[in-house]
Amino acid sequence: MGSSITKQQVQHVAKLANLQLSEEELELYTKQIKDIVGYVEQLDKVKVDGVKPTYQTLDGMVNVWREDEVGMSLSQNEALSQAKRIVDGYFVAAPALRLPLPLIKSGRRGVASAEFGRTSEFFQSKNSGLSENKYNAILTEVDEKGAVGHKDLFLTKGVRSSAGSNVLREYLPQYSSTVVELLEKAGFKTKYKLNCDAWAHGSSGENSDFGSTKNPWNEEFTPGGSSSGSAAAVAAGLVDVATGTDTGGSIRLPASFCNLVGLKSTYGALSRYGIVAMASSLDSPGVIGKSVREVKKVFKVMAGKDERDATSLDSVKRPGLVLTRPGIIRIGIPKEYFDKGIDLEVRQAVMTAVKILEKNGFKIQEISLPNSKYGIAVYYLVQTTEVSSNLGRYDGIRYGFGRESFGAEAKRRIMLGTFASSAGYSAKFFEKAAKVRTLIIQDFEKAFNSSADGVDVILGPVSSTPPFKLGEKANDPLTMYLSDILTVSVNLAGLPALALPCGFSKHNLPIGMQLIGPRWSENLLFDVGEVYQSLTKWHTKKPQV
Ligand code: GLN
Repeated sequence: MGSSITKQQVQHVAKLANLQLSEEELELYTKQIKDIVGYVEQLDKVKVDGVKPTYQTLDGMVNVWREDEVGMSLSQNEALSQAKRIVDGYFVAAPALRLPLPLIKSGRRGVASAEFGRTSEFFQSKNSGLSENKYNAILTEVDEKGAVGHKDLFLTKGVRSSAGSNVLREYLPQYSSTVVELLEKAGFKTKYKLNCDAWAHGSSGENSDFGSTKNPWNEEFTPGGSSSGSAAAVAAGLVDVATGTDTGGSIRLPASFCNLVGLKSTYGALSRYGIVAMASSLDSPGVIGKSVREVKKVFKVMAGKDERDATSLDSVKRPGLVLTRPGIIRIGIPKEYFDKGIDLEVRQAVMTAVKILEKNGFKIQEISLPNSKYGIAVYYLVQTTEVSSNLGRYDGIRYGFGRESFGAEAKRRIMLGTFASSAGYSAKFFEKAAKVRTLIIQDFEKAFNSSADGVDVILGPVSSTPPFKLGEKANDPLTMYLSDILTVSVNLAGLPALALPCGFSKHNLPIGMQLIGPRWSENLLFDVGEVYQSLTKWHTKKPQV
């Protein structure tokens, strides 16, 4: 099996996942899934005897589920006894779709309060009508005076929240996500909902069902994904800061492609409540801004335990390793992050940053993360398995439109994840990946150990190349997946990482580096980042827009 996966097997998986495929789609997916499965089979050779699988990274988690108990259920009459309205023996519920769009202002652009039947028109007129939206970063305007933009994965009460997907193109949430609420309480106004790869699947923004976002540094290039609109909107000066989510690099990659600072928080530091789930054991919300100081400020507003997300913990109050003397901070440089697969310009820019830090008192030390080379294989098994489960709820009944409205990337991931966790294959794929995930985590633990050879922070590039062109990788999923080779391990381990600008390519495109710390070390990352930004000017450069 595996790389010899057949059309019949793909057909079977599609059926399990409740997806209808045309003959043409079946052909294409069989080939693509074969390539991906062939790639992840490299895990076959990894020895995991005695290694425990990792399913989540939060410390102190307890299982609150009880065993299923078979018992009597309510009778129909009892079930209906509390209903406000009953028709033919059914509850009548308020429609979640086809409500007016009260908070979407049309203002001077003349799009009347669009009703749902006209949403696609609404999108078109918005996209072509907004002059400042030439990057296709904005999906919905909320408040013209606002300052923050939210990736369209964040639910905003009464304002369409599409997750970049046609499935939710008319979805009006009844509540806002916790982080949106916290920001609004602190005085931030929501100005725009921002474009992203559908369901946050992607590295380039090209998987958005509403068109690709362009990079303000050069419109022929991708701004990175999946928080593509968040980065483009901040870079173009449309908002001061924007939220994003990072499941495998989706904050750090766009931040680095747009010369911005992006924080991927420790898993559990920010509530995931009210954010459309991609892969639940990896999803980390965060923020993109122009400087470390700004990102730090916004993070502190958003962070903290939320009763509505059992995986959130108090983080801001945790003692970070606050930087007092740079001389005591040891920075680890993983040799695997600088090998021959890394573009020369990227390597040079990041190494120059390392030298600057060294000259200013930081201790630099080479380290090794030997299992990071399996990061993509592990990630594409764990993540797709969780994706297939999370996207199961979009059945056209409870939320949004039916499963035929999923785009190609979502379908591919649903099928891959369904396959990787299906009876007969889960031991070889999903369970194996969960064990190699443990090895990846152990590499980090070893690097961050407190003895003499341990380091406080790890530094490396965010991407192995400078920004790539729109269209360059769009038809080759595996090549696109490999753009995340330097970011996914951090998510598998639940660590925080801060991406920040460190140079430009000869084509005047931004290059970024990332600082990675142990869990809950955001304060330390901010400190090191602020020192670096006080010594360099990269983050002050802006695109000509
Ligand atoms: N590019 C990665 C993917 O497509 C990461 C996505 C993310 O972090 N949301 O899975």
